[in-house]
Amino acid sequence: MSKRPTPKKQQANSQSSRRYKTFQNKARKRLMNTTSLSKCPKCKEDKLSHTACSVCGFYNGRSVLDKDKEMDKVTKVKA
Ligand SMILES: [Zn+2]
Repeated sequence: MSKRPTPKKQQANSQSSRRYKTFQNKARKRLMNTTSLSKCPKCKEDKLSHTACSVCGFYNGRSVLDKDKEMDKVTKVKA
């Protein structure tokens, strides 16, 4: 036996998306109240203030994070 009642009708896609959008907007507002986001001057993306931009890796007008540099995969241990 199922513990949950069986839905009587199939739910419309707009109804599901409206419920999800409400949840999304509430979560966004909660985040905007707790964190202070600022615009990156280089790529105009939202970033945390006083931190390097996670998209372009710039902070205070210079590149801090190497976004182009790829990590070398370690396959052998050098003795
Ligand atoms: Zn940026």
